[in-house]
Amino acid sequence: MQDAVKATVATAVGMPMIFDATQTLAQNRTEPFSNTQALKFSQIALPYAFNALEPAIDTTTMEIHYGKHHTAYIKNVNEAIEAEKIAFASEKDFFANASKLSAKARNNGGGAWNHNFFWQIMKPNGGGVPTGKVGDAITATFGSFEAFKEKFAQAGATRFGSGWAWLVNDGGKLKIGSSANQDNPLMDNSELKGTPLLALDVWEHAYYIKYQNRRADYITAWWNVVNWDEVAKRLA
Ligand code: MN
Repeated sequence: MQDAVKATVATAVGMPMIFDATQTLAQNRTEPFSNTQALKFSQIALPYAFNALEPAIDTTTMEIHYGKHHTAYIKNVNEAIEAEKIAFASEKDFFANASKLSAKARNNGGGAWNHNFFWQIMKPNGGGVPTGKVGDAITATFGSFEAFKEKFAQAGATRFGSGWAWLVNDGGKLKIGSSANQDNPLMDNSELKGTPLLALDVWEHAYYIKYQNRRADYITAWWNVVNWDEVAKRLA
């Protein structure tokens, strides 16, 4: 990773997934106040090395996915925010108004947020069967962990073209679904709504180098790198 990228992403470590722009606004008060500076997406530092998710996700895919694809979403959404004078104060507000955004802002904003989320809900030597409140909620909703896995994998496998599979908490009820392109369940135009708990990128760029057309094999391997502790943090 380039040093400049490191420096930028380092500031985002430990920040909550929904950023509050209050601090940014306060720092910009020396200049004539402009709401257009209110929101800026940041790429989180990858919480592990590029090769850490091997063999489920190969090193080259991680390098390109994080270093090229995700970086581009971040750059492009911030360009759109500036060019279009998008004035929402938080990522939460940005997505709650997604239907009013340009395609560039919506697609790249989704790409920026979704990947920040995706990196965090994975870890080396992850997987296993979740215990505690996550395990209980999954069993209560889907009958068993195996039934949940099957339904989630099905959501990813049957998403035609590019998109994401999601597990969300919709007002205390767990739901599984998928989204097209870089849409996410925080968007007002999303059919599936709720707080994201788990997400799986099923764009070809997420698996094609290692798995080619075998999306199902990628999904099977991906269960071994799920970070259930991070899922539990998001289930309030
Ligand atoms: Mn991706």
